[in-house]
Amino acid sequence: MTDCLFCKIVAREIPADIVLETERALAFRDINPQAPTHVLVVPKSHHENAAALAQADDGLADDVLKACHDVALQEGVSGSGYRVVFNTGEGAGQTVLHVHAHVLGGRGLTWPPG
Ligand code: 5GP
Ligand code: ZN
Repeated sequence: MTDCLFCKIVAREIPADIVLETERALAFRDINPQAPTHVLVVPKSHHENAAALAQADDGLADDVLKACHDVALQEGVSGSGYRVVFNTGEGAGQTVLHVHAHVLGGRGLTWPPG
């Protein structure tokens, strides 16, 4: 997609603080972090949201979820606990229409979320 912010980050057209890269996924720090660890994990290919990701190429959703856990391990939050969030749709606060998992950790996370 030519006019997608996260496609541009994947293509290295826009800079980002990349923390992990796999064959099909990229993880980079959120520009407006909501926790000490706040990393976004995206598939390199463009899919609008989690529902589209689930129906995409075989194993792609798996790869994204595995990358989330690898990020948590790398960031040292897998033991203390972390949250993986896919905001899906406007009412849930999705602002970038290229599916992304938020990996949040490094502080206590309350439930329910706001
Ligand atoms: P959403 O609200 O769609 O679930 O999450 C979009 C996230 O992307 C937000 O947390 C926002 O801070 C982050 N974001 C928006 N623009 C950029 C950017 O240019 N670079 C990075 N690294 N994160 C961004
Ligand atoms: Zn995209």
